[in-house]
Amino acid sequence: MGTLMIRCPETGRAVSTDISVSREAFAAMPVFFSRTFCPYCKTSHEWFAKDAWVADQVVTSVRDHASRRVA
Ligand SMILES: [Zn+2]
Repeated sequence: MGTLMIRCPETGRAVSTDISVSREAFAAMPVFFSRTFCPYCKTSHEWFAKDAWVADQVVTSVRDHASRRVA
C-alpha cells in the first residue's frame, strides 16, 4: 500500500491526500476528480487522478543500511 500524493500548483511541493491505495488499485481506477487541503497554501486544491501518484510508505532500505553500520 502507498499514499496518494499530489503536487501543489503554487509551491510545487508534494502534498499527501491521506488516501491509502495500492499502485495496482490506483492504476485500475477510472479518471476521477478530487479536492485536498494543502498545508502549504492553507487552502484546498482541486486535482485530477492523472496529476496524482502513489508514494510508498515502506522504507526498509534505510533500516537495512543502518543495521550494517554496527561497528
Ligand atoms: Zn498548495
